[in-house]
Amino acid sequence: MTLPPTEPVVLFWYRRDLRLHDNAGLYHALRSGQPVLPVFIFDQTILETLDDRNDRRVNFIYQTIQALQEAFTKLGTSLIVRAGKPLEVYRKLLNELPIRAVYTNYDYEVYAKERDQAVADLLRENGVAFHAYKDQTLFDRDEILTGNGSPYTVFTPYSRRWLDKLNHVYLQSYPTEAYVRNFLTINPQPIPTLEALGFQPSKASFPAKTVADRLLAHYKESRDFPAQPGTSELGIHLRFGTISIRELARQAHQQSATFLNELIWRDFYFQVLDHFPHVEKRAFRPAYDHIRWRNHEGEFQRWCEGQTGYPIVDAGMRQLNETGWMHNRVRMITASFLCKHLLIDWRWGEAYFARKLRDYDLAANNGGWQWAAGSGTDAAPYFRVFNPTLQAQKFDPQSDYIRRWVPEFQSLSYPQPMVDHPMARNRAIEVYKKGLAAA
Ligand code: FAD
Repeated sequence: MTLPPTEPVVLFWYRRDLRLHDNAGLYHALRSGQPVLPVFIFDQTILETLDDRNDRRVNFIYQTIQALQEAFTKLGTSLIVRAGKPLEVYRKLLNELPIRAVYTNYDYEVYAKERDQAVADLLRENGVAFHAYKDQTLFDRDEILTGNGSPYTVFTPYSRRWLDKLNHVYLQSYPTEAYVRNFLTINPQPIPTLEALGFQPSKASFPAKTVADRLLAHYKESRDFPAQPGTSELGIHLRFGTISIRELARQAHQQSATFLNELIWRDFYFQVLDHFPHVEKRAFRPAYDHIRWRNHEGEFQRWCEGQTGYPIVDAGMRQLNETGWMHNRVRMITASFLCKHLLIDWRWGEAYFARKLRDYDLAANNGGWQWAAGSGTDAAPYFRVFNPTLQAQKFDPQSDYIRRWVPEFQSLSYPQPMVDHPMARNRAIEVYKKGLAAA
């Protein structure tokens, strides 16, 4: 830092809340009475897990950080951007700056909770306070509990309670803009290049940050049809906090109960992960850990590449591979196919989606996969197995979606179905039955 401040500062630590406006933790930092310096850390622990040098998420974060830096420069302050392991970065920052406190927003993933605990401990040892706020959900932690005080494990009663509790206070924005004069005045500080972080710029473009009123007006009827542009594609913005959940929920509350319901699913899966952290590695229902998966490597490869011979499954996987996004209906179909038709461990599919999805979010991805495997909260009974052909007839009746991603699907060059549906269905039911009986 070229201009080490002599007066005490508070830091605002950006993570998955990459915006200036309506940001709970930033708002509280700006009102703390000390000048505020915003900080972002490219977390080496996470970057090391990514194998694609053009990773879309890293590119998205990088572009967002650059845009934030421009905004901060206009305000006469600067984002401090570092790369490394957060604990190490904080050790250095403590030496460089007279830090009074660190403000941030809650994160519910196991790794993130451990990281925050370690940083909070280090700060406390150095006499520095650590404050975290709810920002990425409407309700979190123990705000929505059953009558006997336990977390909900079934979505419908959770959503009823959630809607009962919702009022304008929870939907209100934090007026961060009103306090921007409380940033520390400082020259713009350099940002490490993408190359220095080990990545390359990608050509990926990203969806808009807004959802059109027109889309919300038709969301209920069109959201299940993958050939239509019927969903918002806001996932990546919600993942990295480039939009505010409160603003979006306000719009949904006025315009589409069905869309609001999807935001409730999002909260639901965050609270499942927060209260039942074992889901990250194991089945929500322990009995499902006894299923004897076939885990055939070659079959997994065909699924990944979109070469299963089931056009709707292949269309979904190719859309994912090419764009980093897959329609929700098709996520359900491809996930069910992997777990039930191929009897491959849901964690393999979960990990593949985690590598590829630009809107990858541990809580929702894990929830979606455990739902498909039947092992999660709210899952359909295991003997209900999606029929991919019927799903395609129902949700892609003119085969428009399939044609877009699998143009050769009616030609001789297209593979035969890699498994016969009735055989696979019976096999899945047998294997599940045995596994559950062994539990
Ligand atoms: P829209 O239909 O426009 O919905 C708006 C927002 O609501 C989404 O961006 C998302 O934040 C939230 N939302 C919608 N549906 C769900 C849901 N079922 N659960 C939780 N939140 C939801 N969603 C992710 O955000 N990240 C994931 O990694 C992810 N993995 C999934 C894996 C599987 C196997 C399945 C079945 C679902 C997964 N989902 C995931 C949920 C859902 O498919 C996506 O949120 C949705 O398709 C994203 O597209 P969209 O932004 O156009 O959604």
